[in-house]
Amino acid sequence: MTKWVYSFGAGTAEGRADMRNLLGGKGANLAEMSNLGIPVPPGFTITTEVCTYYYDNGNQYPADLVEQVNEALKTVEEGMGAKFGDLTMPLLVSVRSGARASMPGMMDTVLNLGLNDETVEALAKASNDPRFAYDSYRRFIQMYSDVVLGVEHHHFEEILERHKEDRGLNLDTEVTADDWKMLVGQYKDKVAEQLGRPFPQDVQDQLWGAIGAVFGSWMNQRAITYRRLHNIPANWGTAVNVQAMVFGNMGNDCATGVCFTRNPSTGENEFYGEYLVNAQGEDVVAGIRTPQQLTKAAREAQSSDLPSMEECMPEVFAELNAVRHKLEAHYCDMQDMEFTVQKNKLWMLQTRGGKRTVKAALKIAVDMAREGLITRKQAIMRIEPQALDQLLHPTLDPKAKREILARGLPASPGAASGKVVFSAEDAEEWVAKGEKVVLVRIETSPEDIGGMHVAQGILTTRGGMTSHAAVVARGMGRPCVAGAGDIRVDYKAKVLKAAGKEVREGDVITIDGSTGQVMLGEVPTIQPELTGDFATLMEWVDTIRNLRVRTNAETPLDAQTARKFGAEGIGLCRTEHMFFDPQRIISMREMILAGDEKGRRAALAKLLPYQRQDFIDLFEIMQGLPVTVRLLDPPLHEFLPHTEAEMADVARESGIDVATIKARAEQLHESNPMLGHRGCRLGITYPEIYEMQAQAIFEAAVEVSRRTGKTVTPEIMIPLVGTKKELDLLKEAIDRVAEEVFTASKYRLDYLVGTMIELPRAALRAGQIAESAEFFSFGTNDLTQTTFGMSRDDAGSFVEVYRQKGIYENDPFATLDRDGVGELIAIAAERGRQTRPNIKLGICGEHGGDPASIAFCQKVGLDYVSCSPYRVPIARLAAAQAALGAGAESLA
Ligand code: PEP
Ligand code: MG
Repeated sequence: MTKWVYSFGAGTAEGRADMRNLLGGKGANLAEMSNLGIPVPPGFTITTEVCTYYYDNGNQYPADLVEQVNEALKTVEEGMGAKFGDLTMPLLVSVRSGARASMPGMMDTVLNLGLNDETVEALAKASNDPRFAYDSYRRFIQMYSDVVLGVEHHHFEEILERHKEDRGLNLDTEVTADDWKMLVGQYKDKVAEQLGRPFPQDVQDQLWGAIGAVFGSWMNQRAITYRRLHNIPANWGTAVNVQAMVFGNMGNDCATGVCFTRNPSTGENEFYGEYLVNAQGEDVVAGIRTPQQLTKAAREAQSSDLPSMEECMPEVFAELNAVRHKLEAHYCDMQDMEFTVQKNKLWMLQTRGGKRTVKAALKIAVDMAREGLITRKQAIMRIEPQALDQLLHPTLDPKAKREILARGLPASPGAASGKVVFSAEDAEEWVAKGEKVVLVRIETSPEDIGGMHVAQGILTTRGGMTSHAAVVARGMGRPCVAGAGDIRVDYKAKVLKAAGKEVREGDVITIDGSTGQVMLGEVPTIQPELTGDFATLMEWVDTIRNLRVRTNAETPLDAQTARKFGAEGIGLCRTEHMFFDPQRIISMREMILAGDEKGRRAALAKLLPYQRQDFIDLFEIMQGLPVTVRLLDPPLHEFLPHTEAEMADVARESGIDVATIKARAEQLHESNPMLGHRGCRLGITYPEIYEMQAQAIFEAAVEVSRRTGKTVTPEIMIPLVGTKKELDLLKEAIDRVAEEVFTASKYRLDYLVGTMIELPRAALRAGQIAESAEFFSFGTNDLTQTTFGMSRDDAGSFVEVYRQKGIYENDPFATLDRDGVGELIAIAAERGRQTRPNIKLGICGEHGGDPASIAFCQKVGLDYVSCSPYRVPIARLAAAQAALGAGAESLA
């Protein structure tokens, strides 16, 4: 015989907390509280298996369910000294749903079930309080009709409002027993009118109606949608909890409330909660009356004159406080509890892990580990890495009002406000005048880098999570909302349109790069705090993880920020942005426009000192930590002027005529630049570019090593390699330049030459490439792009549809595609190691800062991950969790 029903209450229970899958969260915790000897009104849980059975068998219950329910009901009756449907001492029950995971959208609660025209009279007598009895009955009719019978609240509210108006009453508390009795009659008439049948008087019909409504709600549209969004399988089912009613509305020695074992918004270890005297649970939620504080301290802090529970019911409060300590110690976590006081007796109705802010989560985890309630490892596992983001950037004040204009992708976290400008040059000009700006572009390109740098935040209307704007903004720690497709930008008119509004240049907007929201006007922000609990948790994390965490950084500011966040080196220093500085872009263009190698070398010689200084700065900041410099990657035309006016400027500065510039730009134009003349292909066709960069790196390394005594071991990285031969040719040149520098400076140091693995061919031929490469760094932005055959700049326009249709679970540019791209990484790692057992392996694509992808990197056995500075703490925590086995189950 299958056990479908589990009883609880009166100090014992048939279930336990670890039977959550069978009993649902609420049922399992009610059982656990009963076992702990905490006062819980007796009741029983109908298991989730009944729900599954019900749907597997054409909406039929198991044959023996009725019998088991009746048995359990008898136990409840005995426990309460009352009988269901009895005409002297009627038992009333609540019926609630309770799935494994808390699930809004399902039938929630029916209270006071068991009342009808006769039992209400019995209740009036037994309680000696007709007003209470009829008030309970009208509440029951309204709730049951709404959630079980589908007659909406407003029908009843209208009747009540009309009555109060006729009598000149303001508050429900002024309604008398006789009034409620009359209203009950009107409520029942309304139900009969709406449904064509009377309100059920048989208490068994009421009970099974409510049970059926809970199971039915498992398949309502809201619940289905919620499950889809949260990956909850339909076959989990929900449980039903039937529990004896206790009343918080039987007089002034009664109350009801909700509380947390610690403060859920600050994490402070203080009792926190609200209650209402002479009320039922729904009154607290409905917000009609102002709830009172639980503790005296909280009341004083709020300067409220409504007495706290601590003052008003000191003994019951003390008991509740003891329950608080007991439950928290038992569950080893902050709890969210519901309680009712009936005639000065405390009853606990629910406990569960309490929702909390990130700040509170951090404080609670660290405090609990210090208190010895949990281990440090448990503390580490309790914090969601991505959530740390909220602590690293200024965030929007949650209390502030927001007028949402549009939504885009949360491309780079943090909040920023400023005056709208529509070009990078305008951004620089306005900032030079002392303004704060938000740079709004349809999309950005490397030439916008200056404007992006000075802007408070960046908003684009096109492009995905790895679009130029997104990657660069994350690198700089600049808030960015990308691909806000509902915004129309008119560069000419300098205006953007969204949500029926026009925002002109100079108007203020706010963007929230953590949520993707774009708002009108300035929304106030709160500054981050990196000491205290945050620092403590980070220390603990570092003792656990074995993946190293480096950063993607190319400016001194980025490198310093990353060091502050605990980066252990630079895993990717992109060098292309370095050439957009106004003094350098001229020489860069000269180099590109030069007719021959001699001309190119002459221009490169002018760039050398700048480039050397770039690396000196970075090596100094990184103080002997590894620095991987990637040689030039983007196609050359990105450095050329685009508009006629810009071409004229360049012509004036360089002395080269506009026609030549135009011709060269046309010559360099490519249909698919992402797959074109870029990466090491540049180095192969113009070796002198990489030679200059290598010389700058070695000269800088020698200078800093000599000056600081901390030896720099530069790692030179070649992008977009597909064959060993490419790498060999370039490595030969680099080795030659190194030799020249060492000879000239009379100083030698070690260095590594390695490659990015960002093409499927490179991954497959890794065994051979590793004969020459001393390290691999997986460039998973390009590797994802080339494996999927999907442009990283254009994917934003359709990836969301793919996700909605369930083709992709995640955006593969944000979370590594383990099955495809991941397999290539695993193959490359294995083949690379076969050839060169101690080859250094890292990842520097955007996935290096994504917790799920980091778990994969741990599994494949990479040595390090590299991510943008602001993701360094997230990666440190994710790496520790990966080492502790988090995410392992999904690695199969
Ligand atoms: C990559 O392709 O993953 C990478 C890190 O290089 P980039 O994003 O500069 O192409
Ligand atoms: Mg790349």
